[in-house]
Amino acid sequence: MKAFRIIISGIVQGVGFRPFIYRIAVRNNLKGYVRNLGGSEVEIKIIGKDDDLIGKFFSELFSNLPPSAKIEKMIVEESGIEDLSEFKILSSGNKIHEISEIPPDLSICDDCLKEVLDKNNKRRYYYAFNSCAFCGPKFSILYKVPYDRENTSMRDFPLCKDCTNEYYDPNNIRRFDAQGISCSICGPKLFLETIYGEKIDGDPISLTAKLIEEGNIVAIKGIGGFHIAVDPFNDDVIIKLRERKKRPQQPFALMGISTEVIKKYAEVSETEEYLLNSPERPIVLLKKKDNSSISKLISPGLDRNGFFLYYTGLHYLLLNQLKDKISIMTSGNKHGIPMCTDEECVRRELNGIVDYVLYHNRKIVNRVDDSVLRVSNGRIMMLRRGRGYAPTWIRLNREINYPVIAVGAELQNAGAIGFKDKVIPTQYIGDTDKIETLNNLEKYIKYFLNVYSLTPKIVIADKNPSYQSVKLATKLSQEYSAELIQVQHHFAHALSVASENGIEEGVAITIDGIGYGDDGNAWGGEVIKFDGIKYSREFHLEYVPYPGGDINALKPERMLAIFLSRILTFDEISKFVKLDSRELRVIEHQLKEKTLMTSSTGRFLDAISAFLGVCNKRTYEGEPAIKLEAFSKGKLLDFEFDLRNDEIITEKAFEWLIQNKDKDGRDLAYTIQYKLGKALVKTALKLNPEKILVSGGASVNEIILKGIMENSEGVEVITPNKVPAGDGGIALGQVFYSSFIES
Ligand SMILES: [Zn+2]
Ligand SMILES: [Zn+2]
Repeated sequence: MKAFRIIISGIVQGVGFRPFIYRIAVRNNLKGYVRNLGGSEVEIKIIGKDDDLIGKFFSELFSNLPPSAKIEKMIVEESGIEDLSEFKILSSGNKIHEISEIPPDLSICDDCLKEVLDKNNKRRYYYAFNSCAFCGPKFSILYKVPYDRENTSMRDFPLCKDCTNEYYDPNNIRRFDAQGISCSICGPKLFLETIYGEKIDGDPISLTAKLIEEGNIVAIKGIGGFHIAVDPFNDDVIIKLRERKKRPQQPFALMGISTEVIKKYAEVSETEEYLLNSPERPIVLLKKKDNSSISKLISPGLDRNGFFLYYTGLHYLLLNQLKDKISIMTSGNKHGIPMCTDEECVRRELNGIVDYVLYHNRKIVNRVDDSVLRVSNGRIMMLRRGRGYAPTWIRLNREINYPVIAVGAELQNAGAIGFKDKVIPTQYIGDTDKIETLNNLEKYIKYFLNVYSLTPKIVIADKNPSYQSVKLATKLSQEYSAELIQVQHHFAHALSVASENGIEEGVAITIDGIGYGDDGNAWGGEVIKFDGIKYSREFHLEYVPYPGGDINALKPERMLAIFLSRILTFDEISKFVKLDSRELRVIEHQLKEKTLMTSSTGRFLDAISAFLGVCNKRTYEGEPAIKLEAFSKGKLLDFEFDLRNDEIITEKAFEWLIQNKDKDGRDLAYTIQYKLGKALVKTALKLNPEKILVSGGASVNEIILKGIMENSEGVEVITPNKVPAGDGGIALGQVFYSSFIES
């Protein structure tokens, strides 16, 4: 006879953890009990006759964990043998040791979906909001912790008698003590309206399916916000949506009912299939299949489409009534401002964009955008960290001495808070240069401070004086009497990927659009050496003038003229650049003055993209570089970048392009990007690194990353995984910075 006491902390309450423990204990003939300790801890006592059964209990504990549960820490100690006759679920204690982690929103599970599709299930057949302990919305409906029904927007839907019975039945592993459950008797309801608020009678789901197939634009209330759905085979409605949303080029995501459906339109690798089917259900950027019947207008100029699978009962029921079981599902927002989460916003902001709205009456407490991932050179790279991942915390290998706020950067931004060894990045927030989005950043930083009862002592921001997020940081530092610290953009990128891997010193390649440099110039192609908070910029892309600053990011042709001015006269430049003579004269004049300089990778790629005629106008962030990557294919040609002092000479690429302009543009594009990666890693290797970290928005570029990985001479190349490589991951690096500040 042996007895153990086990304390487990993590996401273990309200997610079916106790009935799960109950079941595996009983199955292995163990006696004892399980109970919540309050906060995020569960106490288990097991008493068993032989080691085998106890061993089996532990192996089942690890291998069959409920999908939404997460074990952070486990303490096992041998304990006194008590004479217990059975295994019991005891009522909760209230000793709080560990702060509770907020569970993320997960996709509907297979068991819940089965109920929705089972005609004999009286309460849940065709029920759009079905969920259990293992699945469904959590963070998006949560006002505050602990995750109890009365702290969520499900409090508006008191359990019916049958749901109550399920809730109190410990043998009901999926619904015992499950906070978010409901059924068609007691749960939320759907209703369909025109955008002007006229109710439409009938089954809202089948009517919505019909409206989509008839070429209408329909907003659909989901988990963390509204989507806009349109038929992906109908060019006319896609053009209409682009005009109305003022998004002429930006890609739209596609939601399918199964991987099989998605495979008709895209190549899906094993890793990508795993990601598509994971309970986080991210949008995964997948290589398009040639000649697929889906509209070419969904992602013009790109070789990938974003696909995801249904993640609620509503999605499934809706897709199932569409002929091809797939729909465009793009975020329901007006260009540049946050996605709508309530009816009022829809009527105000989406009037003029959508024709109909499928509402439900459960409140969305927290906005959460869909997450976006891609696989690049076998690495899973996050582009946007939202639903499914946020707001789980990331553990550091070091402790932070004081609670800290990080406000990130500016575009595609997310903030974070940190305390002890934990960082909680906010969900994806958006471009905080817009006031609505900036307000959201503040709202969610305060939400998490409040949830975790923290008073920040340090506020960390970027160094860019023009960022609105820096102004917010200044305000917050005054509000909390906290110290404001500004961390250089690319160093924060380096620290972000370092923190994920517990690395405290090393060499990082950080490549992106623009970040404010320590010398006041616009950095963006940097090789950085660091040790704790000490860092030095060892190499960078050649400085080129950057007159007018941000205007150049909008006009790839301007960047091309600037690069060409290094090797050609302005008369010669006019042959390669699609700018009128007046604009060229302005640039020529500007270049005679002393200007800001830039080492940006993004602007270099923009200029290449313009030279090759791939993209001459930017309509969304990163467009010229993203399209350049999509355009590139084929052979690696004979070209190398040179290193001069601490600069990788980029103007040489344009000399080479001009000499080789009759060759296939796709080979030229491929070669430039690959060799840029090679040049970056070769310079990094001069610093004799043990490992090379790679971060920044341009590091998701498959070709550049390939150039880095294939030329690292066996040195391990580490890329970000838990947060975006781009500016959405900056806040994590900023928080990590604070861990090096002594108390
Ligand atoms: Zn479920
Ligand atoms: Zn019910």
